Amino acid sequence: MEFKSDIQIAQETEALHIDEIAKVAGVDDKYLELYGKYKAKVDYNILNDKADVPDGKLILVTAISPTPAGEGKTTTTVGLADGLKKINKNVLVALREPSLGPVFGVKGGAAGGGYAQVVPMEDINLHFTGDMHAIGAANNLLAAMLDNHIQQGNELNIDPRKITWKRCVDMNDRQLRFVVDGLGGKPNGSPREDGFDITVASEIMAILCMSKDIDDLKDRVKRIIVGYSYDDKPVTAGDLKAQGAIGALLKDALKPNLVQTLEHNPAFIHGGPFANIAHGCNSIMATRMALKLADYVVTEAGFGADLGAEKFLDIKCRAANIKPSAVVIVATVRALKHHGGVAKADLNQENLDALEKGLPNLLQHVENITKVFKLPAVVAINAFPTDTTAELALVEEKCRELGVKVALSEVWAKGGEGGKTLAEEVVKLCEQPNDFSYSYSLDMSIEEKLNAIATKIYHADGVAFTPNAKKQMAQLEQLGFGNIPICVAKTQYSFSDDAKLLGAPKGFILTVRNLKVSAGAGFIVALTGDIMTMPGLPKVPAAEKIDVDNTGRISGLF
Ligand code: ADP
Ligand code: MG
Repeated sequence: MEFKSDIQIAQETEALHIDEIAKVAGVDDKYLELYGKYKAKVDYNILNDKADVPDGKLILVTAISPTPAGEGKTTTTVGLADGLKKINKNVLVALREPSLGPVFGVKGGAAGGGYAQVVPMEDINLHFTGDMHAIGAANNLLAAMLDNHIQQGNELNIDPRKITWKRCVDMNDRQLRFVVDGLGGKPNGSPREDGFDITVASEIMAILCMSKDIDDLKDRVKRIIVGYSYDDKPVTAGDLKAQGAIGALLKDALKPNLVQTLEHNPAFIHGGPFANIAHGCNSIMATRMALKLADYVVTEAGFGADLGAEKFLDIKCRAANIKPSAVVIVATVRALKHHGGVAKADLNQENLDALEKGLPNLLQHVENITKVFKLPAVVAINAFPTDTTAELALVEEKCRELGVKVALSEVWAKGGEGGKTLAEEVVKLCEQPNDFSYSYSLDMSIEEKLNAIATKIYHADGVAFTPNAKKQMAQLEQLGFGNIPICVAKTQYSFSDDAKLLGAPKGFILTVRNLKVSAGAGFIVALTGDIMTMPGLPKVPAAEKIDVDNTGRISGLF
């Protein structure tokens, strides 16, 4: 079977002028800042003017533990919104902004797929409205001010060996992971070991996503710890007086970007932090704005539900004081077979045994959402062309046997029409009252919080700390960071910290190796392994297939 590529489908659609979409979304002209015909930013002052409007219902789309087979969370998020519109609901989508790293690397674009996409997909995946560049500039301004401070006499007594703030660029470029800079003698800075992160891993990105307004953003920037002094005191961006200029650089980046789905429904695409060392969902600003504008807001969290949904619920919802009404857990037959032990190359063959063996991964994610977070959930089976009728029936039957709600989603092949069943199920769930709870409370110690996440969400037997992590934990508590949320950086492929343990592993201990604070973003990052904050390109980068013709038409993005 030959299928049209995502970009082919996107280019065949006639998009409406963004004015029209703004009207559908209820965004008055005075808040709209046009970036060409198909993109606009929405002024945050709309939030003050709509302060008394009650919030719509928030629906979180998450998934089983990711596999190389792909799950389709963004596709399902967009398709569900189009499906809700098909059953006459007033709806808005809120998604993350893609990074150039994955676009040119392995994963490709992040604007949905098939007939469930947001457009203009080329712009969204490439420079879009410049937010990523603004974040990079803000990050690098802070780096420049830091090194300049040292060069100009180092009044703050900064120890160059203890600088934690890196430079950044929005590209997968492993060559920049470790660099020595400041070479060339006295007039050219002081030599030191430095490094680059990809822009989406910058704390500035996490801050942009957590900020409720410009004042909050500047306060958060002020709190960023850029390194430590010779006597081990934290040095902050506030000490370097950087918050005002960084706020100025980010004033437009903080405004959510409005685009449309292929079916002309409004979508915000705004902010895209890493889902391991940061919380991995779109900005609080965009979600709050969407909740004021629509009756139903569909949003996505990165990775599987153990990471993405947990952080969405424990970090973002807590900070924004918002409460979801329903959770959609995306699963595919292919990914479940992979969890059941099938190699990537054999995923296209029917295999009911492996499918059944992979189901515990899905069921454990469902149980976490319904029993720990106490939210109503439905499983969306994202139908692939290779799924057999017997396979699709088996997943439905097993879920129903266990009292788990399930709906077949055919949005990739059919757009909103293929999302109506899921939409109807979601509307029903949204009518139920729920007792949304966090998986830990903030007044618990760092160790207790990590224990709660590890045992309740990952189903580990407990948590072990390396001696280094123990020391850091004591230091962070002493510095007054004991009562903020925890952001666990763990492999996304397993509930455990071992990427090879698929399904629903039991009898393991989670090892925390490193703890650091993102004081501006407002969480402690607990690293359970080496987490790459500057990815590299694969042997055959997606970039090799991307092209543009003489009329300016882009091809090869997917
Ligand atoms: P995620 O958000 O979980 O990373 P995406 O929704 O971005 O996943 O989908 C990843 C890729 O998989 C996209 O290129 C998309 O076109 C493809 N895809 C998603 N769902 C399907 C499906 N049902 N059938 C075929 N391909 C799909
Ligand atoms: Mg996605």
